[in-house]
Amino acid sequence: MKILNKSFYYKGLKIGFKGSLLKIDVLEDEKIREKCKICENYGKNYSCPPYAPTTKFFKKKYKKIFAYIFHMKNGNVDKWEALARLVFEYGKKLEKVLDGECLIAGNCKACVRCSLETGKPCIHPRKKRYSFTGVGLSSEKLSKILNHKIVWNKKYLSVVGGCFTNKEKVNFKEIFDIFEFIFKNEAKFFKN
Ligand code: SF4
Repeated sequence: MKILNKSFYYKGLKIGFKGSLLKIDVLEDEKIREKCKICENYGKNYSCPPYAPTTKFFKKKYKKIFAYIFHMKNGNVDKWEALARLVFEYGKKLEKVLDGECLIAGNCKACVRCSLETGKPCIHPRKKRYSFTGVGLSSEKLSKILNHKIVWNKKYLSVVGGCFTNKEKVNFKEIFDIFEFIFKNEAKFFKN
C-alpha cells in the first residue's frame, strides 16, 4: 500500500497531507455512527446521521476510497472549521479527477443553515456532500493505516476526508498539487 505523505509551508504554518487509495471495507465501522449522537449536527443536517446513508449504499457504486488526513502545525484550535471547509472545497475538486464522490469533515457546508432544520428538503442536492464519519467510516482506522495520530490542540490540528472512486491507481502528484492549490486559494479561512 502506497501512502502519499507531503507537506509545505505557508505563512508560518506547516500544512501536511497524508492519504492512500484503500478498499472501502478496511475503513468501515457502522457502529461509529452512534457516536454522532453527541454532536450538535445530529439530526440537523442531511449529511449526518440519521439521514446520511451508510457505506452499504455507496458500495453499490464504488469499490474504493482515496482517504486522507490534512494536518496543520502552528495554528490554533479555532481553525478546525477552516480546515473542515478546506476538506469540503478540496473534495469537490478531487472527485472530478477520481470520477467519484467526496466525503467531508463534519456537516455539509453548502448552505449556511441546512434546510433540514426548517423541515424542508435539501435545497442543493447536487452540492450536498456527506460526512466521513456520518456514513460509517472510521477515522481511527484511517489514523492507524496512515500511521498518523489525529489530534486537536492549540498547536496542532488534523482533519479527515475521502473520495469514493473506482480508480485502481491514482496520481499522487496531481492529488497533492490540487491540495496545495486549494489551500492557497482558500487561505483566507486561516487568517486571524
Ligand atoms: S446542500 Fe444545504 S440543504 Fe442540502 S444537505 Fe447541504 S447544507 Fe443541507
